[in-house]
Amino acid sequence: MHELDTPTFRLAMAQFDQAAEAMELDPNLRERLKLPQRSLIVSVPVRMDDGRVEVYTGYRVQHDSSRGPTKGGIRYHPDVNLGEVAALAMWMTWKCALADLPYGGAKGGVAVDPKQLSRAELQRLTRRYAAEIFPLIGPEKDVPAPDVGTDAQVMAWIMDTYSQQVGYSVPGVVTGKPLSIGGSLGREEATGRGVVYVTIEALRHFKLDIRNSTVVIQGFGNVGAHTARIMQECGARVIAVSDVNGGIHNASGLNIPELLTRCKTHGQSLRDTKLGDWLSNDELLQLDCTVLVPAALSEQITERNAGKLRCRILAEGANGPTTLEADRILQDQGVFIIPDILANSGGVIVSYFEWVQDGQRFFWKAKDIQERLQDILINAFHRTLQFSLSNNTSMRMAALMSGIDKVAQAHLHRGLYP
Ligand code: GLU
Repeated sequence: MHELDTPTFRLAMAQFDQAAEAMELDPNLRERLKLPQRSLIVSVPVRMDDGRVEVYTGYRVQHDSSRGPTKGGIRYHPDVNLGEVAALAMWMTWKCALADLPYGGAKGGVAVDPKQLSRAELQRLTRRYAAEIFPLIGPEKDVPAPDVGTDAQVMAWIMDTYSQQVGYSVPGVVTGKPLSIGGSLGREEATGRGVVYVTIEALRHFKLDIRNSTVVIQGFGNVGAHTARIMQECGARVIAVSDVNGGIHNASGLNIPELLTRCKTHGQSLRDTKLGDWLSNDELLQLDCTVLVPAALSEQITERNAGKLRCRILAEGANGPTTLEADRILQDQGVFIIPDILANSGGVIVSYFEWVQDGQRFFWKAKDIQERLQDILINAFHRTLQFSLSNNTSMRMAALMSGIDKVAQAHLHRGLYP
């Protein structure tokens, strides 16, 4: 499968094939939905602080726009490639459909390590990338948001670059912006908060109480850090967290507020905080716990380590953290998986709220946002659970099948152009 053929794309494709097979999806639609609607590759020349010009490669892929404008994050990471971005765009399509948001899926990225750039270089890279993908994006066309390696500041630069081109302020061109330019309350923590809401529902389903639960989190970026904080606020004991280098473990519970101050405010590394015993990422995944939350990159749980996991519930904060082989092993072990397109959809749900608020120029209270987020997620969780139980299929297949079905309906109603 030519340019897109990378491990992450193969994973997204294999999941889709399995779901399409099970739901007997119309073969014409199946061919179409396997591939993205539109993919753009751009060169991003950047003047570095020392005067040299470095050229980076950027991407924006729109998987399907049958249900509305396309939506999805922008990732800055050295391993970004077309196949990965296309896979992530496809997952966004199913994620938005599952939560009933009027969006299709997209994703973008630049193959760069943002930690190696100065703030000025990062700004020039972002503005040039935004200018290159300008023809594709817009509040009614395609709306980017933060993802791995990007944040509210990067979104602000994209919003400004777009607004400069059209000649007036367009807050709705991106979500995850700072509040000062039309961002939404609760957007930054939304993915983590969503992970906690669906985890609480899963625990209830097993008659477990979050206050007697232990939680292990792989990744301490936006998703991992907010998940850790909110899990603890809800009464769980967070016993381990990790970053790319490894993790810290404390069986009686980590001091999360202290950890957040040290790492996020003072820039200390997890290891230097010495707030727990140091362990490798592999060891962390194998800890005995009620809930394991992978909140880092894709393909972390594979046939190599799946058999060693000791969690009751796997809540996928990251996109695509589990391979298909690992899925099978975990299912045999009786691990309950809350699949990525459900577990991490809190981010895009509050992005949707942000976009609606931008369109109306009318902003909501934090309480309204939390309640509406909870309402959508609890609903999506129980619909997926019911589907999974009545069709005797996994939560992942149930989520994919419901998402794909909504997209299929939209295609069938609209018909094929021309
Ligand atoms: N990057 C996030 C995701 O993977 C959020 C996307 C968005 O808010 O549009 O779901």
